Amino acid sequence: MNVLEEKWKKFRLSEGEATNIIFEEEEAEGLQFKEDWSLVCKACSMRTISKVVLESTMAKVWRISKAAIFTEVSTNIFVVTFETQADKLRVSEGRPWLFDSHLIALKMFDGLTPPQGMVFDHASFWVRMHSLPLSYMTKARGEQIGGTVGRVEEVVTQDDGSGWGNFLRVQINLNITQPLDRGRTIMVKGKEMWIPFSYEKLPRFCFSCGCIVHREECCSNIYGKEEGEEQYGSWMRASSGPQGRFYTNNRTESERKNKGKYGEEVGKEEKGGLKKR
Ligand SMILES: [Zn+2]
Repeated sequence: MNVLEEKWKKFRLSEGEATNIIFEEEEAEGLQFKEDWSLVCKACSMRTISKVVLESTMAKVWRISKAAIFTEVSTNIFVVTFETQADKLRVSEGRPWLFDSHLIALKMFDGLTPPQGMVFDHASFWVRMHSLPLSYMTKARGEQIGGTVGRVEEVVTQDDGSGWGNFLRVQINLNITQPLDRGRTIMVKGKEMWIPFSYEKLPRFCFSCGCIVHREECCSNIYGKEEGEEQYGSWMRASSGPQGRFYTNNRTESERKNKGKYGEEVGKEEKGGLKKR
């Protein structure tokens, strides 16, 4: 509950204030149309992002037929209205999106939640599960492992359900206020195996606590010390590749320094570097 709502609970309301104004009839048709053509986005950054800059940048990044219109409804929260359903779908399916390495969290338009009450604590990411034995690179195992991380949206497999390759690719809707999972331990015929994860299009995140979004200032060095940390680091970013046409022309200084590291397969690097929790 926000401050104004708390105050309202304590008020002794006058008759005029307490009488319900009933909204019965459907909203005007034109507006309904606008709602269907819109998404809501939040720029997950500690600083305030300018609408003008975001609007023009995302028009290029999204490669949509016509620039979408951004309407600011709260700090860093915007309703984005598209010209066509195809554009809306393209943006919705292309998640996650980054702006200056910050996550642009997207939600379906919900006309009933006031802008201040909109919660952006989940986002979808493509997670690569490395070092799985081939026989376990399946839709079912992807769902089983991914289900312990968040809500599995898709596992990339062939028609027969196998997902053989360098890694198993799983799209997971996960809680971005919690530390990112670096992998999972699986037990195969009595033998423990570590399955490292890497994330495609991973935005800037805290190398101290592993969170993309801090609820409060939980760490003294948010986004600060990016090198020398052993628990979280740029090695969690998936290398680009066939799926790797990422928006990364605004890397931070330390990411630039870490470029070599940035591009390597996670499976090679984490051994010995990770401690068991
Ligand atoms: Zn932190």
